[in-house]
Amino acid sequence: MRYLVTGGAGFIGSHLTDHLLAQGHEVVALDDLSTGTLDNLAGATGDSRFQLRTGSVCDAAAVRAAMRGVDGVFHLAAAVGVFTILERALDSLRTNLHGTETVLEAAREAGTPVLVASTSEVYGKNTALGLTEGADRIIGSPLTLRWSYAEAKALDETLAYLYHRELGVPTVVVRPFNTVGPRQTGRYGMVLPRFVDQALSGQPLTVFGTGEQVRCFCHVADVVPALVSLLGDAGCHGQVYNLGSSEQTTIGQLAKRVLAATGSASEIVTVPYTDAYPDGYEDMQRRVPDCGLAEQRVGFAARHGLDEIIESVIADRRARVTT
Ligand code: NAD
Repeated sequence: MRYLVTGGAGFIGSHLTDHLLAQGHEVVALDDLSTGTLDNLAGATGDSRFQLRTGSVCDAAAVRAAMRGVDGVFHLAAAVGVFTILERALDSLRTNLHGTETVLEAAREAGTPVLVASTSEVYGKNTALGLTEGADRIIGSPLTLRWSYAEAKALDETLAYLYHRELGVPTVVVRPFNTVGPRQTGRYGMVLPRFVDQALSGQPLTVFGTGEQVRCFCHVADVVPALVSLLGDAGCHGQVYNLGSSEQTTIGQLAKRVLAATGSASEIVTVPYTDAYPDGYEDMQRRVPDCGLAEQRVGFAARHGLDEIIESVIADRRARVTT
C-alpha cells in the first residue's frame, strides 16, 4: 500500500512513517517543516519507498499532488503545542481549520480514506474520570486563545464526519491524549521532554500552575499501530476513537519522577500560568481517557508504563546532547 502522512516530519508522523515502511508500505510525507524536522526522518530518508514533499496542507495543489496514487491518508499536520498556538494564533487557526478541509476535499476528489488527528483538547475543562468519546465539551471563551486549538480540531471532526456522512468519504477521527516518546521536543510546550532537558542540563524543572493537574501519558509506539488499524477498518469510518493511557500522574509527580530517573540535582519550581504563558491561557485540572472503544475495535492498549516512557525520553534526549 502507499500512504500519505501529512505532518510526516513531526513527532507522531515520523514514527508512523517508520512503522509503515517497516510493514513494507510506501510513504509520501507532506510537511512544511514548521515544527517537524528532517532529523526525525533520518530512518526513512534514503529508503526508495519514501518520499518527502515540503509544502503546506493549506496548498490545495500540493495536497492533490501528494495524494496521487495513495491508498490512504493520515492527516497529522497541524500547528501543535501551547506556545505555538498562543504565539502564532492566527496562522495556527488557519492551518488547523483550512488544512484539514483542504485534505478532506482532495481525499473526496481522489476517493481516498482519511484518518484525521483530533485531540483530547476537544474535551476542554471536562474533568470526568474516564472521558468517553460522547462526553461533553466544556470550553472557555473564544477569546481565550488556548481554546482555539480545541475549537479548530472540533470543527475538523465535524467536517470529517460530514464528509463521511454526506459525501461518502471513508474518514475516521482519533483523539490522542498526551502522546509522548522519543523525538518529541519541549520547544513548543510539551511538558515531558521539557522536564527531561531541564533535568539533564541541571536547570530547575519549571512546573506551570500548582502541579496538581492530572494527566495520562501514552507512548507513541502504542498509538501508531492503532492509527493504521483504525484507518484500515471500514467499520471504524464515520467514528471517533480516544487513544491514550489511563495511568494518572500529577505534573508535580512527573517532575519528581524525572528527577529520580535522571539522577539530577535540579530543583523543582512552580511558575504561575500568568508568567509561563502569554495572555489567553487557562488549564484543565484532570484529563483521563476511556479508550474502551479502540480497545474493543482494534485491540488498542497502552502497554508502556510511565517509568518506561520517562526512560525512553531520557535516552533520546541524552543521545541528542552527545551527538
Ligand atoms: P508535531 O508538531 O511534531 O507534528 C506536526 C507536524 O505538522 C510537524 O511536522 C509540522 O512541521 C507539520 N505542519 C504544521 N503545519 C503544517 C502545514 N501547514 N503544512 C504541512 N505540515 C505542517 O506534533 P505531533 O505531536 O506529532 O502531532 C501530530 C498530530 O497529532 C497533530 O494533528 C496533533 O494535533 C495531534 N495530537 C498530538 C498529541 C500529542 O500529545 N503529541 C495529542 C493530541 C493530538
